Amino acid sequence: MRTFLIAGNWKMNAGPSEAGKLAKEIAGTWKGKTFSSEALICPPFVSIAAVSKEFEGTQFKVGAQNVHTEDNGAYTGEISTSMLKDANCEYVIVGHSERREYFHETSELVAQKGKKVIDDGLKAIVCVGEVLEERKAGKHEDVVKEQVNAVLDLLDGDVSDQFVIAYEPVWAIGTGETATPEQAQEMHKFIRSLLTEKFGDDISQKIRILYGGSMKPENSEELLSQTDVDGGLIGGASLKADSFSKIIEISESI
Ligand code: PEP
Repeated sequence: MRTFLIAGNWKMNAGPSEAGKLAKEIAGTWKGKTFSSEALICPPFVSIAAVSKEFEGTQFKVGAQNVHTEDNGAYTGEISTSMLKDANCEYVIVGHSERREYFHETSELVAQKGKKVIDDGLKAIVCVGEVLEERKAGKHEDVVKEQVNAVLDLLDGDVSDQFVIAYEPVWAIGTGETATPEQAQEMHKFIRSLLTEKFGDDISQKIRILYGGSMKPENSEELLSQTDVDGGLIGGASLKADSFSKIIEISESI
């Protein structure tokens, strides 16, 4: 019942010229073919227009990697939801572990951003995940519960169409190390139980939970085959047109 979401996070890579070329390549790999998964690229802010232009008339969607909680005003360097809508974005990633770590974003701020995105009619991909020490100490579920519940506390009603969670164990991001399919499924199942507590079974079954952390063509089939894994948030492999397209192709075969 849940459509796979295959989302690329380009992080601070690819300015407008490079991003346009890469987007064209990605779209080109699917020329004349359609897919039933949803596919999304989140480039840096300055490259959104270039990517959006190349994706015109294709199934590929564009999103952003961050947003501010205010509509406009004296917030130098920030971008609002209305600007992202105007720029053709459909999704916004919030609370990526790199933002939590390097920009000191707390679970409360991430939750406010997620709510703002949803209230303003965009779709939020809220990232959660534990660091290695927390997993080793057996605290991974507690950490993820705190991060997920901070967002759930601010949400009400059926948000299933606008709310996506990405479970990204921090120790697996950009490291080449992946959670095993079993570790991923265990955590995704746990997250779904938190969603069920909050929203009930009907709504929780509709909310997508993505896995992120060194997903690539070689490991995506096993990960995407897990019951509660509804797609991927993909960093490194989304910067190569053939790898990203291959993951979409694999999702189609599951
Ligand atoms: C990410 O940036 O969200 C990510 C999962 O990166 P990578 O796929 O490179 O580990």
